[in-house]
Amino acid sequence: MADQERLREYHRKRDFGRTAEPRGQEAGAGEEPRFVVQIHDASTMHFDFRLQVGDVLKSWSIPKGPSDDPHDKRLAVPTEDHPLEYEEFEGVIPKGDYGGGTVIVWDHGVYEPLSHDRKGRPVDFEESLEHGHARFRLKGSKLHGEYALTRFRGGKDDGEEAWLLVRAGGQAQGHGTPDPRRARSVNSGRTLAQVAADDGDR
Ligand code: MN
Repeated sequence: MADQERLREYHRKRDFGRTAEPRGQEAGAGEEPRFVVQIHDASTMHFDFRLQVGDVLKSWSIPKGPSDDPHDKRLAVPTEDHPLEYEEFEGVIPKGDYGGGTVIVWDHGVYEPLSHDRKGRPVDFEESLEHGHARFRLKGSKLHGEYALTRFRGGKDDGEEAWLLVRAGGQAQGHGTPDPRRARSVNSGRTLAQVAADDGDR
């Protein structure tokens, strides 16, 4: 069984009789943790950045999307934990439902946790997220290299959280951020418009 307690908010927001989004299942043991970046053409266009931590995908909504240029600081607003199978979700969430709109899987792969303390000793990745600063190396089809997520506002009793996603070190690969309307799915090669035409309300 999945960690249903941790996915409570995810489940509360959705009617699985209506949406094709997944319900959630357990992680395989001993595998490298996964990441996925989806493009979501909802009420506002955004990227959803998700890192597997245990049995869930920790999730942030990134309006401008991740950049491979170390000079770009990208606002990342936490959203509820998602089930692991969400990595595969590409399609149309019904209009009027939570997150209604089209989703494509822009990039996915595995990541190497790199979080460490001030003395350079490795620390538990989940703990580093709780403390508001995590480093990791993405190994995707499009995104490669080290990134850091840092909370700069909010937290426990301090209102809504805001984080920054920044490429940590290395040089820009010259891609910057993709235009979400032209970007293609890493799984199907389709654009948002193609997925909307294929999978939309018929
Ligand atoms: Mn979204």
